[in-house]
Amino acid sequence: MTKSVYAYRNGVLCAEALPLAEIAEEIDTPFYCVSAKQLQRNYRLFAKPFADLNATIHYAVKANANLAVIRILAECGAGADVTSAGELERALAGGVAPQKIVFSGVGKTRDDIAAALLAGILQINAESLPELRLINHVAGALGKEAPVSLRLNPDVDAKTHAKISTGHKGVKFGIGLEQMGEALALLLASPHCVFKGLTMHVGSMLKDYEPFRLAYQRLADVVGLLRAQGLEVERLDLGGGVGIPYDGQTLAPFADYAAMVHEVLGSLGCALSFEPGRKLVGDAAVLVTRVVHVKETDNKTFIIVDAGMNDLVRPALYGARHEILSVRQNIIGLTAPVSVVGPVCETSDSFGDHFMLPDQLKAGDLLAIMQAGAYASAMASTYNGRPLIPEVLVSGARHAIIRRRIAVAEQMGWESIPDWMVIPRAA
Ligand code: PLP
Repeated sequence: MTKSVYAYRNGVLCAEALPLAEIAEEIDTPFYCVSAKQLQRNYRLFAKPFADLNATIHYAVKANANLAVIRILAECGAGADVTSAGELERALAGGVAPQKIVFSGVGKTRDDIAAALLAGILQINAESLPELRLINHVAGALGKEAPVSLRLNPDVDAKTHAKISTGHKGVKFGIGLEQMGEALALLLASPHCVFKGLTMHVGSMLKDYEPFRLAYQRLADVVGLLRAQGLEVERLDLGGGVGIPYDGQTLAPFADYAAMVHEVLGSLGCALSFEPGRKLVGDAAVLVTRVVHVKETDNKTFIIVDAGMNDLVRPALYGARHEILSVRQNIIGLTAPVSVVGPVCETSDSFGDHFMLPDQLKAGDLLAIMQAGAYASAMASTYNGRPLIPEVLVSGARHAIIRRRIAVAEQMGWESIPDWMVIPRAA
């Protein structure tokens, strides 16, 4: 296991060479802290085992769409996987070349497709027959040729949380095996589309690589069938989904995944691409929060912190558990777990029960919610009249604010009260 960039130095938790407490002092809590070094390291670790294959890596921007994060990964060599015209705009602004961008998503609109075609991206992953018709129509209207891959729904159980399983029958994603023939015939008959290959994404946070193996074998079978009909399959896009260990989990080594990809797909002669999100950014960030109150009840101690489910929704949304560390070095001495909760008026605003915290936590102490890089700041909201919290990038001993705090006063500037609702004040 590689050493984490988040480690205690002189009794204080640091991001790379910078104490988190110093950033908290400067910008207040809560905030996300992202490590540039960890992003670079994660990219290298993902890319290395596929260096001998004709493989490209397209960072799934949805995991964390911050421009600086995209820029760092782009500088490492990553392309992007986007799911909307907005993410496409971000990927381009972050410095990703259009020819390294793939466009996923089940509900691409006319505007999404037009933006993709006008930018000249590598490929659009089509997920249904109506979408194929729309892609052809928009490409025709713009006088463009659309490079299209078909997303196969291989009907496998990803063995992950139901809300992030995307590769079995009954979910909205991809084209089932039974409809593939029809989709392909439609694509080949579409004058403004060019068939590039096949794509799939069976789910996120897979802890076990067997569902991937099954899905990739189905993909290889379809390639065989198409080739038997004389059709060339240039590219295979294998999606994302590789999990990371949260809160002390142990997962199979990434090398096992890479070996399986080589074994199942390595000799097909297709260009392979991957769309990792979590694996590139998940452990690169932490959410730093301050204890507001310690509330003792007769059966439980609640550590009420200033970060809530609006800042990090994964625990409320997926029952996810994140490790929580004290920013001042742990004195582990708890005999009963404490419940770390946010201030939002929802019972689901809880980061779970934890043992690994100092026994004398008090208001004002800082905590770090770990592995908060993926589907964290990207999903933050302003629910409960709360500011959108900042993101800080650390590189060595340097740091910079890469998303500033958006105060409620500024948010209210996005809204307006219609003139006809303004009731004149009584004189
Ligand atoms: N590709 C597609 C089509 C997705 O929907 C997702 C996530 O939902 C990803 C890639 C990235 O998945 P992960 O972050 O698990 O690697």
